[in-house]
Amino acid sequence: NYDPEAQGTFDYQQAQFVPGVPRDFTPLRSLVLDTILEAIGHTPMVRLNKLPKSFGVECEVLVKCEYFSAGGSIKDRIALKMVQLAEAAGALKPGMTVIEPTSGNTGLGLALICAVRGYKCVIVMPKKMSKEKEVALRALGAQIVRTENHHAYNDPESHMGVALRLSKEIPDSIILDQYRNDGNPLAHYENTAEEILWATDEKLDYVVVGAGTGGSVTGIGKKILERVPTCNVVGVDPVGSILADPSNRKTSPYEVEGTGYDFIPAALDRGIITQWVKTTDADSFHTARRLIREEGILCGGSSGANVWAALQVAKGLPKDKRVVVILPDSIRNYMTKFIDDEWMKTKGFPIPQY
Ligand code: PMP
Repeated sequence: NYDPEAQGTFDYQQAQFVPGVPRDFTPLRSLVLDTILEAIGHTPMVRLNKLPKSFGVECEVLVKCEYFSAGGSIKDRIALKMVQLAEAAGALKPGMTVIEPTSGNTGLGLALICAVRGYKCVIVMPKKMSKEKEVALRALGAQIVRTENHHAYNDPESHMGVALRLSKEIPDSIILDQYRNDGNPLAHYENTAEEILWATDEKLDYVVVGAGTGGSVTGIGKKILERVPTCNVVGVDPVGSILADPSNRKTSPYEVEGTGYDFIPAALDRGIITQWVKTTDADSFHTARRLIREEGILCGGSSGANVWAALQVAKGLPKDKRVVVILPDSIRNYMTKFIDDEWMKTKGFPIPQY
């Protein structure tokens, strides 16, 4: 009996309306959005078909494609949350300038929100990060300051040091500070994790997440462990970073952008992580290129790292297990980098032959 007045939710697993008390989280949104900010998050989950097979993996591997978010990455979610919290607290008011040290994607999310909301935006980013990010940031109206790559996090000339100095020089400015802001893990705890739980009907065995600030792995891992305590939370960290093993503070340069650090950000709760996997540039870029070429998934380099790590973990798991992998950003950020054979050659990475 069709009851158009019945309360409930549309269950995408069953492809039907389920009457009852609506869940406190639903992935639903209006068909017409008031601003592009409502197109942040709500990203698709896609089954990998060819890559797992070629790695001898039998279980299901699902990837969450964060590049479908309005600004092109998983970091839109935290940018929005941090702005909303600051506005609600009265710390961010019309006419102010938002300053942020970032590897680029938080900057893109913030610049997008600032463009829509009318704030000024200054992004401080190490030179290592792609020109593509800078060009998109500029188009969104942000001012960009580049810092040298080699400065330690606590050096006044690092991207964090320079942002701090600018915040003293620029009147009416605020650093939302993704490294320490609760809104960073909270955005993933409240949204990203809920979307994963919804899409999988709370049936998953591993969730694989790359760590930069650690907000993603901390927020996603915390919520999923509360609801699915048997799930394993796998952190992915590039060779050269200290996040997986802070007892060894020795770092070395690497090309993958957005993951790994020379310090442990407060946003990262290492206690949530059940297992770490270290990844190399070569494996990350090669896997990302295969995701693009074989699965049509237009992801970035850290997505390749996460999938490579997931496939290592998934080897030997029985067929009925399910692994969920986060793909943080898109091909757009790297058109002149690992996507380009010339760049790969210059950097000494093998050119993929397909
Ligand atoms: N991959 C990319 C491309 C990123 O920009 C980031 C954010 N720095 C991450 C992964 C890691 O996300 P998080 O900061 O939440 O650890």
